[in-house]
Amino acid sequence: MGIISTVSGLFGSEGRHYRYRCRDCRTEFAQRATGEDDLICPDCGSDAARPVESS
Ligand SMILES: [Zn+2]
Repeated sequence: MGIISTVSGLFGSEGRHYRYRCRDCRTEFAQRATGEDDLICPDCGSDAARPVESS
């Protein structure tokens, strides 16, 4: 029981994506929530992406 709930919890967090917007070209893209240092815009390669606030 404990193991199963732990595994499903890991999958749940791994499948989580957040939306970001590149400040250079304004492209929006979804990426797994890793460290902010790993955020690279898929369009222009800039690292100036910021999280998009969901309202
Ligand atoms: Zn960009």
